[in-house]
Amino acid sequence: MRRRVRNILAAAVMIELLSGATRGRSALYIFGFIVYAGASCRWKINMRMAATALTVAGMILSAAATGFSESERMVRIGLGKDLPSVTLSASDWRLYDSINQDPVLSGRGEITFQAVTATEASAGAKAEGGITTGGAIIKSISAAGICSRSGPFRLLPGGPNQVMIYAGKRYRGLAELLLDGKGRLTLINVLPLEQYLYGVINCEMPAGWSSEALKAQAVVARTYALKNLGKHQAEGFNLCNDVHCQVYGGLDREHPNGIRAVRETAGEILTWSGQPIDSVFHASCGGYTEDVANVWAGEVPYLKAVSCSTDDPASLHFPLNSLYREFALIGPWLSDRPQALCRRSRAYRWHHMLTMPQAERLLKDKVPLLSGRNGSGKLIDIRVTGRSSAGRVTAVEVVCSNGTYMIERDRIRSFLGGLKSTLFVIRTSYDKEGRARAFGFEGGGWGHGVGLCQAGADGLARAGWNYDAILKHYYQGVSLVKPDAGGEECSVSPRF
Ligand SMILES: [Zn+2]
Ligand SMILES: [Zn+2]
Repeated sequence: MRRRVRNILAAAVMIELLSGATRGRSALYIFGFIVYAGASCRWKINMRMAATALTVAGMILSAAATGFSESERMVRIGLGKDLPSVTLSASDWRLYDSINQDPVLSGRGEITFQAVTATEASAGAKAEGGITTGGAIIKSISAAGICSRSGPFRLLPGGPNQVMIYAGKRYRGLAELLLDGKGRLTLINVLPLEQYLYGVINCEMPAGWSSEALKAQAVVARTYALKNLGKHQAEGFNLCNDVHCQVYGGLDREHPNGIRAVRETAGEILTWSGQPIDSVFHASCGGYTEDVANVWAGEVPYLKAVSCSTDDPASLHFPLNSLYREFALIGPWLSDRPQALCRRSRAYRWHHMLTMPQAERLLKDKVPLLSGRNGSGKLIDIRVTGRSSAGRVTAVEVVCSNGTYMIERDRIRSFLGGLKSTLFVIRTSYDKEGRARAFGFEGGGWGHGVGLCQAGADGLARAGWNYDAILKHYYQGVSLVKPDAGGEECSVSPRF
């Protein structure tokens, strides 16, 4: 234990030296390592706990050691987890562990990390002259040598490009390797938030779209990131790199237009009551967005249904207020292709057909009435039984020979085989005996319909709106907080 505390204090001093930080910040680093020590004593050596605690100081260490400005907000993006091994490469690199002040290895080209057991590492360490501290071990192998350490490791790319390559993709920033509770590796890309956004924006919106739409998307992506910093806290990083959080493709997905949009909105986020908003968005709404309460649950004051149409006389007058009228009118409105702002979207209007045998196959395992233990019922019909004032289907009834089954809100899309949206009508074909033969889904838009309509944002930008106005249209009542603008304060912490 004494040795551990000694190591911890040595590491704190090392960080101090590397970062050249102020006294106040030094206290923060040491505090982080005391948390680490506490975690280690109380719960024995648990690398996952240790990794999380280390992030208190790690982000600042990363900033110092890579030359990022200390004032830059850093984010930790999970590129992979539950991995038995990870191979990274860079034109040249330095490898740090969490204890030693100097790099434990430096080299060029590829380096492979493996999760190994303490016994394996101990045997290897003797042969290789390495140091092991027990518990879980990461072993790194490169042309420059082999080393086994208790991790985490940080790989800092050097050279003129300062990029690392993982699985054929290039990334800015540095790589961090953690061991999870199961002895597998987690790979994290640590980099400034703004540079992370360079690799996000064109994964979420085409680079050729209007500059004001791209700027709106940049603010949305930044707000989303800050709102969700704790989403993967238990795994030791802030956000993952796929649709669960935001798609992040690294350097290879960057485009000058996207980078310009991020830079021209640097630091700007959307807030409500001083907090970053839940900036959900979708590809296209089909003409009218939706209240979050009709899609998931709960009331959110800025996630209300809004029009995504120009003043088209052929449009329906939303919000719809009569159940009977909306059933009669929503079909023609979908067929007429009104001049909504998102009309250029590929999925502005769509069709999907399910024959009766296809529908039976699709629903057999989902509807207990069709696969019940007490004899199976037969599918008779699929009907819309609820629709919101924004025109979206909120309830569908599956009529079976032995009863009915109800499905509601956004689950309807996946339940019916992956419909693009819940903005649809069902046109059912019947045979001469009046039995349903096929279900034609005629719909509009792509996605849940809540928050910003991306294609609509591009439509508004083409109509001359700026990104501020676009955002405040889709998220009603929010504030756009600009750095140094003297606006409302926003209490966002990048740290766990
Ligand atoms: Zn995620
Ligand atoms: Zn729209």
